[in-house]
This record gives sequence, structure tokens and C-alpha cells, in this order.
Amino acid sequence: LPRAQALLAELQAMAGPAIARAEAVGSLRRRRETVGNIDLLVASERPAEVAAAFQRLTQLAEVLGAPASAISVGEALISARLHSGERADLRVVPPARWGSALQYFTGSQMHNMALRALAGQQGLAWSDDGLTRSDRGEARESGRESPWYATEEEVYAALGLAWIPPELRENQGEIEAAREHDLPNLVSRANLRGDLHMHTVWSDGGATIAEMAAAARARGYEYIVISDHSQSLGITGGLDVERLGQQRIEILNVNSRYSDFRVLQGAEVEIKSDGSLDYPDEVLEMLDVVIASLHTGLRQGRDQVTRRALAALHNPHVDILGHPTGRLLGRREGAALDIDVVLQAAAETGTILEVNSQIDRLDLDPIHVRAALELGCLISIDSDAHSPQGLEIIEYGVWQARRGWATADDVINTRPVSDFLDYIHRFEDGGD
Ligand SMILES: [Zn+2]
Ligand SMILES: [Zn+2]
Repeated sequence: LPRAQALLAELQAMAGPAIARAEAVGSLRRRRETVGNIDLLVASERPAEVAAAFQRLTQLAEVLGAPASAISVGEALISARLHSGERADLRVVPPARWGSALQYFTGSQMHNMALRALAGQQGLAWSDDGLTRSDRGEARESGRESPWYATEEEVYAALGLAWIPPELRENQGEIEAAREHDLPNLVSRANLRGDLHMHTVWSDGGATIAEMAAAARARGYEYIVISDHSQSLGITGGLDVERLGQQRIEILNVNSRYSDFRVLQGAEVEIKSDGSLDYPDEVLEMLDVVIASLHTGLRQGRDQVTRRALAALHNPHVDILGHPTGRLLGRREGAALDIDVVLQAAAETGTILEVNSQIDRLDLDPIHVRAALELGCLISIDSDAHSPQGLEIIEYGVWQARRGWATADDVINTRPVSDFLDYIHRFEDGGD
């Protein structure tokens, strides 16, 4: 996605005046975790100019084949290979066709097939490039030239549907919900008030607590949880109990500088291979927030690894299950967890399930987010940042959660810090 955004930015810089609208479409716009080609869609009255600019992009290694001759009739399609090895396709359409084209080329294929069937039932025309107006002949006679829709909202409205966010376009019930005007109001980055998972120089992070706090506050957060690794994860410099106590003093110091921002002390605590946690209960109790994570022993059999996760979920001090399946995209399948049993236990214990934003994790994935929410679970969206810039990556977690139909209410870190703490301390006695 950053590459697609860079391509669009460069294209805008070179051919800006000729470009009315520009978007990365296809699976990129649907924010899928893995993306094939980069599909760019541009609305322009001057397609030849846009096509020429595209061929001068610095990321371009070679143009594949000659630009389509259709440029003469107001459209262009060019494919190219980038230096990164990826393939990029540029399609230029007239602005009057933007809505039909944007809808069609965003997909997914399954979503479009369902829309096409719906169009058929309603006697509307679905051409090879998306929905066209049914009153086409009439429109021509009345002098309205374009048979296409200029906005996506018009496309969906013509089918009797509310506009559907791209992340939901997988034919997984979104069309029915759009017909009933019952689509979820999806969580957005702006809804997040805190980030509950990050590392500092106390373990394997690259910045101090004060630096992470300042960076998070500058990004508009009201609170963060510092969650360095626990003692047994030796390679990351996990904290023993004594250093955890020293860290608490540093956190108190940082907090004394702010009246509008709060640093909470957490820990990312290993779920050890026997299912026990890496700190004793007295230590867990002292922490503001406990994230329990599986990093080791992920090759264990299904029963064993599921039992470990369940043991953590049933520990009353555990607030969040971190990156629940342990998958690493492209490198490692998740643990052989019985995920349905784990989600059920999280629902019963009220343990929060994390959507980890690291791009090689994106764990939970959208299917399991949706399953968890249907069971009544809460999720958190966390960066797992190891540096101030790492906080930015939370955007990816937001997209995963959106693809899992999550609303702001489903995400614990959209709540103010006091509500968040009330929730995780819900089983404890009142203080006075
Ligand atoms: Zn972790
Ligand atoms: Zn972590």
C-alpha cells in the first residue's frame, strides 16, 4: 500500500492538472493483508497525458506491451513492472464514469457477482465494466451523455443499497445488510484513544518510555500501555521482577510531566510451554495491564497449545490475549490452536483479543475478528511498536478490524482511560 500511495503521489505531481480523481483499487482498496497487482484507477479528460506521466514514474522498471489504443476514445490501460518486481496496472476513465469504474475495479469478484445478479433481478444493465444506467437510451435522447455513474454512491443507490465500505465487499452478508440499511459503523483510526501494546529500551524496543509517551501524545492518544517482554524471553532482554519494579518508577516519573496523558505499566507476558505465565500472580496483580502472548512452543500439538491459551484466558490477571494465533505471514502458520474454543473462552472470561498491527502478523485476522465479535468478545487494536514511528502501523490493524466488521464499541481502546481501567478491573473490589 505505501508503494501504491507513492505511485499515486508521483503521478499527481507529474500530471496533477489532468487528474480529476485517483485511487488504488482492487484488493488494495479492500485492505486485504496480501495484495497481488497494484491496480490504479484515474479519472481524467486527458488520458494520454496521464498515461505518458505513468510511463515516467521512477518506480517503473519496464512497460509491459504498448499502451492500449483505446486512449483515442478517452480511456487508457497500461501495465508495467516496478523495480520491486510487482506489476502495476493503470486504468484511466472519463470522470463521468468514475463511480461505475471505481465500484467495478474495487471488487471483490464475489461481491460484484452478487451485485450483478441483483442488477439482473431489478432489470438493470451490468456491462463488463460495471453498472450502467438502465435508462440509457432515454438518457441519450434527453442529451445526458454518459451511460455510467459518476459516484459509487449512485451505483449502490441504483441497486437499492446503502454505500458499502470497500473493506466489507467480500459477499459475506454486506449486500443484505446494505439493503436493510444495517451496515456496521466501522471503527476508524480517529476513534482510538490509546495504544495498548508497545516495547521500549527496557526490552527489545528502540526508544525510551518518555520518547514513546511523547510520540503517542503527539499522535492524539490519551494513554498508552508500555508492555515490554517478560523474563523468560531471553533474546529480547525480557524484564525480571526487580527491573519491572524499576521500570514502574520511571513510568511514575514520566506520568508526573503530564496532566492530559497517562502511561500505564503493562507487560507482554510469555505463556510458557507448560501453560503457566512468566510472572507469579503477585507480580501480575501489580501491573496495570497484562497481555499474555504465545511466542514459543508454537509447534506443539493442537490440544497442548490450545490448553496453554485457555490457561492464560482463565487467569483473572490476564486482560488481553496478544496476537492470538502467533502466525507470521509468509513465514509461519499460526499455532495449531483450536481457535473456536479460544474465542469462546475469551467471550466467557471477558478477555480482550488483540488485533496486532505488525504487518507480518495482522493477528487476529478479519474472519476471526468477526467470529469473536459475534460471540460478544471485545478486541483491542495495537501497534506492538518498537519505536515512535512504529506507532503509525496501527492503521493496518484498524483495517483488519474493519474487515472483521468491528465498530468503535467493539474496540476497547476507543474508550477513555478510566473506562478502560474500569473494564479490566471489573472483578476487583471497589477501592474504598
Ligand atoms: Zn509478541
Ligand atoms: Zn510485543
